[in-house]
Amino acid sequence: MSEGNGGSPVGTGGWSPPSTAPTRPAALPGGARAGRGDGFHAMWSQLLPIGRDAGSGGYRRFAWTRADSDCRAWFEEQARSRRLACEVDRNGNQWAWLGDPARGNAVVTGSHLDSVPDGGAFDGPLGVVSAFAALDELRRRGVPLTRPLGIVNFGDEEGARFGLACVGSRLTAGVLTAGQARRLTDADGVTLPRAMEAAGYDPDAIGADPGRLDRIGAFVELHVEQGRALDLSGDRIGIASAIWPHGRWRFDFRGEANHAGTTRLADRRDPMLPYAETVLAARIEAEPAGAVATFGKIAVEPNGVNAIPSLVRGWLDSRAADQERLDAVVAGVEQAARARAAAHGVHLDVERESFTPVVEFDHALRDELAGILGSETGIEVPVLGTGAGHDAGILSGRVPTAMLFVRNPTGVSHSPAEYATEDDCVAGVLALADVLEGLSRT
Ligand SMILES: [Zn+2]
Repeated sequence: MSEGNGGSPVGTGGWSPPSTAPTRPAALPGGARAGRGDGFHAMWSQLLPIGRDAGSGGYRRFAWTRADSDCRAWFEEQARSRRLACEVDRNGNQWAWLGDPARGNAVVTGSHLDSVPDGGAFDGPLGVVSAFAALDELRRRGVPLTRPLGIVNFGDEEGARFGLACVGSRLTAGVLTAGQARRLTDADGVTLPRAMEAAGYDPDAIGADPGRLDRIGAFVELHVEQGRALDLSGDRIGIASAIWPHGRWRFDFRGEANHAGTTRLADRRDPMLPYAETVLAARIEAEPAGAVATFGKIAVEPNGVNAIPSLVRGWLDSRAADQERLDAVVAGVEQAARARAAAHGVHLDVERESFTPVVEFDHALRDELAGILGSETGIEVPVLGTGAGHDAGILSGRVPTAMLFVRNPTGVSHSPAEYATEDDCVAGVLALADVLEGLSRT
């Protein structure tokens, strides 16, 4: 899959920049594979306006909101138009089936349709649209499917609303209990059960679904790459090796609210100061470890321009290649935070809100994918690690799981600037179809 970066560029956040004609997939190398992107393009165009913020151009497809419902309706329509059996499981994940999943050993592909605040168009939807397009390709090829084939849209993958990622897959896999999920609350104080209910789903049903996972023989998630490894190597498609261990930690710095004009600097207990120093410490700790550490979200009380804050709450997201390095980075950040908080007379509480250990994808399945794709193209497909969490990572504890990555020329993700060329997206569809075809023979 080593090819030049010569695909037709696509507009930021989507394929149809306003005021220009939509780009069409250019012919792919190997004439037999040309022109396979039309169905993909049509699906993509339908999905594109849903939940898009006119101001930022980014997506706000949060769990159990109107935009989420619209995405789900789109999924249902795709399933219906292909005569697939569509169902929603007890945790709100959507499934479309070709063949009876009760037969077991099913091959499942898919991803998620929700987004982070002002997210890009590709993170998640690329995997779902590619799944339907790959199924169309298999039908075009006349491949007899010997195993049930499922397409899934996992609910609330990004965790944008309730602060915990992969809620749908975590519940299904039993790594998040129903009790824990029921306590999740959004910024407006709406609990997950109330949000589900408002969207027309039954929150009493949520919980582990081992029977469903037992019927899956392989899960393959296709995803836009969230870094530049493929761009740098000149490959369109990659296979995931592992997901770095990662987690979220909440740092509560509590000081004393006071007047910004009349309180002498020496008399202040300003929690913003140790917070700021902790942000810098995160960078200092992460760099030599080859890790990442980010404070991307902050809440301030009372949040007034002319008030010294009483509380600064910051969330640390940190990821590293292995557990030891991650532990060292987070311990280093916490140590610095405690020292700086003490120096400013500020009280600090640190709480780990979520954690996902390293995920090594199933080696046998990974090798199988490499074999299938290698035999189709004669080129070795690169195998890469990733710092991003995915439903595939959650499922991998229960089901043989693999991931395919599609090149992202800028590496930008979780932003409206995230994109992939149409050619690369179509290459992803064909690679996924090759994989599904190959797996259906096993
Ligand atoms: Zn994603």
